[in-house]
Amino acid sequence: MSAFDADVLVGGGGPSGVAAAIELRRQGTKRVVLLDREPALGGATRHCSHSPFGMIEFGRVYFGAAYGRKLTREAEKAGIEIRTGHSVVELADDGSLLVASGRCLERLTAQRVVVTTGAREKPRSARLISGDRPIGVVTTGTLQSYLAFHGLLPFQRPLIVGSELVSLSAVLTCLTHGARPVAMIEPRAHAVARAPLTWFPTVMGIPFHRGADLVDIIGRTRVEAVTIRKHGATETLACDGVLLTGQFTPESALFLQSSMGVDQGSAGPVVDQYGRSLNPRYFAAGNVLRAVETGGWAYREGRAIAKAVADDLRREPDAGAAVPVTFDAPIKLVVPNILRRASAPSPAFRHFQLRVLQRVRGRLSLEVDGQAVWQAGGTWMPERRVLVPIPPAAPQAQHVHFRFREEE
Ligand SMILES: Cc1cc2nc3c(=O)[nH]c(=O)nc-3n(C[C@H](O)[C@H](O)[C@H](O)COP(=O)(O)OP(=O)(O)OC[C@H]3O[C@@H](n4cnc5c(N)ncnc54)[C@H](O)[C@@H]3O)c2cc1C
Repeated sequence: MSAFDADVLVGGGGPSGVAAAIELRRQGTKRVVLLDREPALGGATRHCSHSPFGMIEFGRVYFGAAYGRKLTREAEKAGIEIRTGHSVVELADDGSLLVASGRCLERLTAQRVVVTTGAREKPRSARLISGDRPIGVVTTGTLQSYLAFHGLLPFQRPLIVGSELVSLSAVLTCLTHGARPVAMIEPRAHAVARAPLTWFPTVMGIPFHRGADLVDIIGRTRVEAVTIRKHGATETLACDGVLLTGQFTPESALFLQSSMGVDQGSAGPVVDQYGRSLNPRYFAAGNVLRAVETGGWAYREGRAIAKAVADDLRREPDAGAAVPVTFDAPIKLVVPNILRRASAPSPAFRHFQLRVLQRVRGRLSLEVDGQAVWQAGGTWMPERRVLVPIPPAAPQAQHVHFRFREEE
């Protein structure tokens, strides 16, 4: 009889957590407990009233809420112990979790823990937007939750801030619920999502201002107008809400106070090529690693990291020596951000995932102990994933560094 409450505890029941839990069961892990603070599994997909979800992992297209239900069915079939309404409030150094539910506060122990708490859009407070504090200033996720779970639409004529993929989800959500955005603004000189997707607002007759910042929100109780600044000139737009989209950041409340380690670039936990953090009892997968990827990507990442966890259960938790993966500006992040020398034959990550901070033209190269082993030139766009194969020799190196050289 095991001295632990579970072989593996998975904290967060979105696509990555559900996939990790199912894969652990497939790999023969006996007791897998999946915890989520919400009343149902599915994570961010639950409130998405649109598609596409599930194409690669389930071979058909689902709308967000249906995809969340599909995840629940698959988790139940796999024999996972599901505990919704359970909030993880502490990750202790010994691998035990303090968990709060409506009934009690309890400590659960396990051999390994997988943290899959996702990411969230940057709210108003973190964006330092000045002005009044009326109701009706929300993120896409909050808007979709209001609609999906409470049938509430907080505005009719919002301003949309941002032009990432999720910003298009925001436009679609507004239009399908009868709201008509007055405009969409993007501080950068270009749209962040790819064309032709970024043509969507314009095709729908919504003015799209590039190089425009939100500088003021006006309205005592409800939003009445906003001031935007475009190319040095300010303009006031009448509207009744502000929809803040994108600028995702990993959900860090838990791991910030833990021994998992925090990576300065990704703002997620420090992880090696197995998804293992600085504390070898803890692994992480999905959008908590780096904001932000699609549901399908999070699902596949959860599955890959679960295989590494299942393999790791065969030995004592042992981190071993690690080499940090360093990088030049304007690279924003690299995941995995450390490489561990020893260990298992099949890593969860076969590629480094990179992002840059802004649109830049130049040559990216990967140097292992001073030798360039990979390079590519071109124009690199923010919030677009760049994949670089992890060379087999890199975990044994002293220095692993991504260099950037600007080109005209
Ligand atoms: C508005 C919006 C639209 C999107 N549209 C699409 C789309 O059309 N197609 C697509 O493929 N992807 C889409 N995505 C992205 C997709 O939803 C995410 O990639 C995916 O949900 C990430 O999965 P995850 O498991 O990493 O995290 P999440 O789905 O965020 O799940 C994290 C889970 O962890 C739980 N949790 C967090 N903290 C705790 C805690 N302390 N204790 C217990 N539980 C906790 C949360 O309740 C949540 O259920 C969209 C995302 C958003 C926000």
